[in-house]
Amino acid sequence: MKLAIFDDLRLGVVVDGGVVDVTGALPWRHDPDGLTATWWRCLCRDFQDLRPSLQAALDSGLPVIPLGEVRLRPSVLNPSKIIAAASNYRAHVDEMHGVQQRTLGRVESWMMDFDVFLKSPSSIVGPGDDIVLPADVLAAGHEIHHESELVVVVGSGGKDIPESAALEHVFGYTVGLDITVRSAADRSRRKSYDSFSPLGPWVTTSEEAGSPDDFDIELTCNGEVRQHVNTSALLVSVPRIVSYASGVMTLWPGDVIFTGAPPGVGPIEPGDVLSASISKIGGMMLNVRKAN
Ligand code: MN
Repeated sequence: MKLAIFDDLRLGVVVDGGVVDVTGALPWRHDPDGLTATWWRCLCRDFQDLRPSLQAALDSGLPVIPLGEVRLRPSVLNPSKIIAAASNYRAHVDEMHGVQQRTLGRVESWMMDFDVFLKSPSSIVGPGDDIVLPADVLAAGHEIHHESELVVVVGSGGKDIPESAALEHVFGYTVGLDITVRSAADRSRRKSYDSFSPLGPWVTTSEEAGSPDDFDIELTCNGEVRQHVNTSALLVSVPRIVSYASGVMTLWPGDVIFTGAPPGVGPIEPGDVLSASISKIGGMMLNVRKAN
């Protein structure tokens, strides 16, 4: 299934021609308050039990609402954390030597090795929202880069999940942008400004998406292809990322994991239009603007 959050935090199943509102099939009262809504994380945890009810609602003849008539929201709601992988495509690691020389005047060799770090959940926005470039960062002349990534949504969480069982803990996949200031500051700050984690347009569940080692990721900027990669090129595979991250911190249902930037990262500027897509998931467009 492709599951979308839309309008006042309703749940939709994406079908040909639009979205079917299946909010009424959930066992919880609809909560439109983004601060208190916890149903999404419960859905991530309990999806296998709830799927028959969602499928029954889908089969009951509910109307298909054209996508143009709804407002798609971020594809996840209230994750406890955003985990992100660094240095996970060889060609990106190679290009970062040049990027760091240009933006830092040196190469931080420790950043060339795979690891995970955290971004603030408050940096999440959805399809059609703007990526807002902070005025002080622009004034300082720092480059702000796009990183277009496959994002894992955690289903049943856990600690010390073995690699062999990791995919059983994955609820699904969504498209993410890991917007990044290139400067000499902590990675969590450079990547946690508001709007620096666009997620959308919906989540494709694991059973529908299949193996995560054969997705095509593409990012265009103003129509020009900037990043294009297949996830078979990941240095650390999705199961290994899940296992590694869960060895550090307990994964909670609904947590999201960015799997790493493909090669082709580059600066974005006010007025740019980004289009990010992943095969078997979908795509979204975002406008880039300066903060008011
Ligand atoms: Mn990244």
